Amino acid sequence: MMRLQAQAQALGRNSYYQDTAHPAPAHPPLTGSVRADVCVVGAGLAGLSAALELARRGMKVVVLEAVRVGWGASGRNGGQALAGYASDMGPFEQQIGLAAARTAWDMSREAVRLMRKRIAEHAIDCGWNAGALSVAVTPKKARALRQWVDTMQERYGASHLQWLDAGATRAQVASERYCAGVMDPEGGHLHPLNYTLGLARAAVDLGVVIHEDSEVRGVASGAASGQAGGFGRGGRLAAAAPLDVRTDGGGRACVRTAQGEVRCDAVLLAGNANLGAVAPQLARRIMPVGTYIMATEPLGRARAERLIPSRAAVCDTQFVLDYYRLSDDDRLLFGGRVSYSTVSPQDLPATMRRGMLRVFPQLGDVAVTHAWGGFVDITMNRAPDFGRLAPDIYYLQGFSGHGLALTGLAGQLAAEAIAGQAERFDLFARLQHRPFPGGDLLRTPALVLGMLWYRLRDLF
Ligand SMILES: Cc1cc2nc3c(=O)[nH]c(=O)nc-3n(C[C@H](O)[C@H](O)[C@H](O)COP(=O)(O)OP(=O)(O)OC[C@H]3O[C@@H](n4cnc5c(N)ncnc54)[C@H](O)[C@@H]3O)c2cc1C
Repeated sequence: MMRLQAQAQALGRNSYYQDTAHPAPAHPPLTGSVRADVCVVGAGLAGLSAALELARRGMKVVVLEAVRVGWGASGRNGGQALAGYASDMGPFEQQIGLAAARTAWDMSREAVRLMRKRIAEHAIDCGWNAGALSVAVTPKKARALRQWVDTMQERYGASHLQWLDAGATRAQVASERYCAGVMDPEGGHLHPLNYTLGLARAAVDLGVVIHEDSEVRGVASGAASGQAGGFGRGGRLAAAAPLDVRTDGGGRACVRTAQGEVRCDAVLLAGNANLGAVAPQLARRIMPVGTYIMATEPLGRARAERLIPSRAAVCDTQFVLDYYRLSDDDRLLFGGRVSYSTVSPQDLPATMRRGMLRVFPQLGDVAVTHAWGGFVDITMNRAPDFGRLAPDIYYLQGFSGHGLALTGLAGQLAAEAIAGQAERFDLFARLQHRPFPGGDLLRTPALVLGMLWYRLRDLF
């Protein structure tokens, strides 16, 4: 996992978001032993959202972050805030039934509303733009998209989704590539790093203590034996050598870093693809997948809005999708490409530029100023993976590249559960997830081969 972290570090260097981030305070590393009601591992959107909601309920919360606030996917992503799930509703319907699946769909719309509420409530300056457009590249994909809209409207009451034929789609996006689209006026896009930093500020204002440069090396449950996960009292959940992690015998969990520890009643693991040895039982169920974005130089308002007059976020429905949007300073931020092997493409700016020109050949004279990437945590079925490793150890993972809005709600659900209202959290915890096949050595090559098959299917 250290290798992944080093790759992520290198990939984050030329990020447009870093260059345009609002100033934010540094948070000192954890030293010594502290007590809290809840310790949150990871200062991305999932962890910060939970911290905020727990503090709102009067709890003392400590957040431990290995690098710095927003360093992970939350501060690097495409900025597209979308309802729904990477898996779509299939795994929900199959595993928990249509009624619960409908609730889950409504909750994904609630996630987008929650984001907008927080932006307003905490005056977070992150350039929200409304509108999210999905576009189809081939007639076959257009038929599938139409069928999806019909299903979502009939079964899930999604009457707000607007179908666009080829002409209407081209009025939205100045590209010959698309033959149909669907507009979700509730979705939208924003500057994700500034949103994350704003959420951290709001959490600190409510009394949350954040420690950066504080990588968690081990976590121990304080729960009595015989309960979920089978961890005994004082049982060690996981610890990267050479730390010895034990609870204090008083039923309290313990979270250790190299220089300190937090003793607490509950722990929330929200480390995305980087948790690794801290919770190997979770790491087996997700696969880190690289995805990448580039930014053009500023295009000027008129030229930018000739590309996307409504300034909506756009993504296509290919298996390896293109996703793009205009920034507040009128650049095109264009995302695409994935690396299932976690090896980044050579000459990332040139690779990304080729993808952009396939959609917008009219941008041949435009310079690329930034190109960066990060890792998403995908699950086998692409549905999110929330649950407990022990009665006092909760986790949120598996957003599968569709977590910008959902992480906010997930954090709220985890906070509700920790505070004793677990019904909404448990709707997700009922979803079953399988480990990736192939063990530590073979699972990445197996995934690369499997994904190649899906990419080929996109061609026909
Ligand atoms: C390039 C890219 C584009 C994307 N585009 C979109 C998009 O347009 N729309 C969308 O919905 N989603 C998108 N996503 C996915 C979305 O960004 C994620 O689902 C979401 O940000 C996950 O948030 P998180 O809090 O779970 O994880 P993260 O933001 O990754 O936060 C986890 C944090 O935990 C820390 N951590 C890990 N291990 C430890 C440890 N042992 N000790 C202490 N701290 C630790 C990490 O340093 C990190 O800061 C994209 C992702 C990427 C990478």
